[in-house]
Amino acid sequence: MTKILITGGCGFVGSNLIRQIVERGRGEQIAVLDNETMGSPRDLPSVDIEYHKGDICDLALISRVAKGCDTIIHLAANTRVIESIQDPTLNFEVNVRGTFNVLLAARDAGVRSVVMASTGGAILGDVEPPVHEGMVPQPAAPYGASKLAGEGYASAFAGSYGMQVTALRFSNVYGPRSYRKGSAVAQFFKQVLDGKPITVYGDGSQVRDLVYVIDLCKGILQAIDANVSGVFQLGTGKPTSINELLGEMKQVVGPQRWPAVNYEDWRAGEVRKTYCDITRAREAFGFAPATPLVDGLQATWSWFLSQTSASGS
Ligand code: UDP
Repeated sequence: MTKILITGGCGFVGSNLIRQIVERGRGEQIAVLDNETMGSPRDLPSVDIEYHKGDICDLALISRVAKGCDTIIHLAANTRVIESIQDPTLNFEVNVRGTFNVLLAARDAGVRSVVMASTGGAILGDVEPPVHEGMVPQPAAPYGASKLAGEGYASAFAGSYGMQVTALRFSNVYGPRSYRKGSAVAQFFKQVLDGKPITVYGDGSQVRDLVYVIDLCKGILQAIDANVSGVFQLGTGKPTSINELLGEMKQVVGPQRWPAVNYEDWRAGEVRKTYCDITRAREAFGFAPATPLVDGLQATWSWFLSQTSASGS
């Protein structure tokens, strides 16, 4: 039976991805390694999952867990750009050392393929979008540098040890199960739920490529099935400014419940405008994100509302 190990499986993308793997019904065995900083086993579906609480920085542990796996989907990471500026060493340990450990463990366990989460915007820095895989990396913050280092090791392990390693550069992912995320959509919905004003850093003209998590997870599984190697951008290919996003969110939430929006100073290290070109992923494995932003936001808001009614508040 095929066995898939997901590092960071309790997190936002992981907990959605595992549901998709279960729903497609191929009967794969699923293992999860998670240090529970961004999720907990309670976030996982109630199916048979081999669960390991622990850290990718623990090489002995990841080496043990990788044994017998066919595929590793490496999602565990420190993903906050601003936090990486405040604590670059922690970011390095988790994203560079941790990814290196995952690759070492995969090599030694004879794992068939490793698919790892990477990022386009943060690796490429402030360049004229749409960003694509052929651009020269110029990270503006330690987070982007750490992901670039991970991609470097991925390429080196593929070249030196004949492993199949794929780096998927996620754009800004939103969707259900994002309640621990500090990213724009999740943060704004949480502020609406709490009846607090929304805080926008800058004037709201900053642009991102907002991809719905279900579409993204489909792309991850398509990449694995297609046995591709190398680097691929996964987004929608469409630019959305934060002000446009707020307009869509206001429609979804309804004007009565919509709070005040406060505009504050820009944050240092912030990329002003990024969205990606997804041609390569479309051509290599048929990646076709189809969910319109308003539909994805509606599903996300419904999920946030379901959580408050479930907790009785
Ligand atoms: N943002 C904001 N208020 C928030 C959260 C995010 O104004 O409460 C802005 C943030 O400054 C950035 C954009 O929204 O310009 C996207 O932020 P996110 O953290 O989602 O993604 P990243 O900056 O890592 O691409």
